[in-house]
Amino acid sequence: GSNSTDKLSNESVQVIVRCRPLSLKEIQQECRNVIHIYSTRGVIEVQNPKAKSENERNKMFTYDAVYGDCSTQQAIYDETIRPLVASVLDGYNGCVFAYGQTGTGKTYTMEGANDDEMGIIPRAFEQIWSHIARKTGVEFLVTVRYLEIYMEEIRDLLRSKTTKALELRENGEEGVIITNLHSHTCQSTKDMFKAMRTGNHNRTTAATNMNEHSSRSHAIFQIVIEMADSHSKTTRVGKLNLVDLAGSERQSKTGATGDRLKEATKINKALSSLGNVIYALAENSAHIPYRDSKLTRLLQDSLGGNSKTIMIANIGPANFNYDETIMTLRYAYRAK
Ligand code: ADP
Ligand code: MG
Repeated sequence: GSNSTDKLSNESVQVIVRCRPLSLKEIQQECRNVIHIYSTRGVIEVQNPKAKSENERNKMFTYDAVYGDCSTQQAIYDETIRPLVASVLDGYNGCVFAYGQTGTGKTYTMEGANDDEMGIIPRAFEQIWSHIARKTGVEFLVTVRYLEIYMEEIRDLLRSKTTKALELRENGEEGVIITNLHSHTCQSTKDMFKAMRTGNHNRTTAATNMNEHSSRSHAIFQIVIEMADSHSKTTRVGKLNLVDLAGSERQSKTGATGDRLKEATKINKALSSLGNVIYALAENSAHIPYRDSKLTRLLQDSLGGNSKTIMIANIGPANFNYDETIMTLRYAYRAK
């Protein structure tokens, strides 16, 4: 359904869709673009390349916002992410998720490609430090953590060689903590960039096949901002979680068996559990099923309550991705 009246009301959960342009390879293979974006209405229309009749041809979906192949990193940041980061700087928690099939632009959206096409993470660094530079009478302590969840195991991307156990604990006052996870204190945008690069490097070198690895693990870049107001003598803490999720492709298609299949099952379970949590939040449901995966347990204190959540569903426009695209659009629709 795409009726605006059945849209759920929780304003703190937003679901947006981003469609990347056709790649050079797809153009060379003469792929067809089956996606049409109506950005002012938040509507996406998908043409079914295999449809036999006209009336089963097109499917429509509605979201909080939709971004087509001409949309810029800047526009997505300014229109949807900037307000969330501003609320983190007010002492609230926030999560941004990039969801989608491998190759649809999750990492491009979160990290970006180069200085002109910076993604959400580096733009958040800039917003945070320009806020700190302007603000007087408040002392800031900024720390970052960078971790990944692979096969339901947590790895510290800032301390790749650590042999200590990284375990999830719920600790009354602090909320959810991970034992032995390194927190790196930052003084500038540059420090944060360095931490991000270290983590990305550790993520790559540990894997025999980078693409395969990154498509099977969730990477979480966490920024914690403590603010001490010297006038009112109060402290506040805001936490921002920037999450590049594992690829959502159906693993059965790849003919996975044995360990691979086990891994695939875990990925699919974590992603569906995240979808269930976001849906329950959006519905203002009494029971939020945080406990079904490490990912949702870990982010429990940043999902729900006064926290804000943005789910970015990434899709590709090519006809041969139709089935996966529909799966992603359904997931994102259900997530809201
Ligand atoms: P994922 O992380 O989902 O596997 P990537 O972010 O690696 O996908 O994107 C796959 C390729 O498509 C990369 O070469 C990336 O630079 C390119 N790409 C993705 N989104 C866009 C976009 N919106 N505009 C231009 N290029 C894009
Ligand atoms: Mg990626």
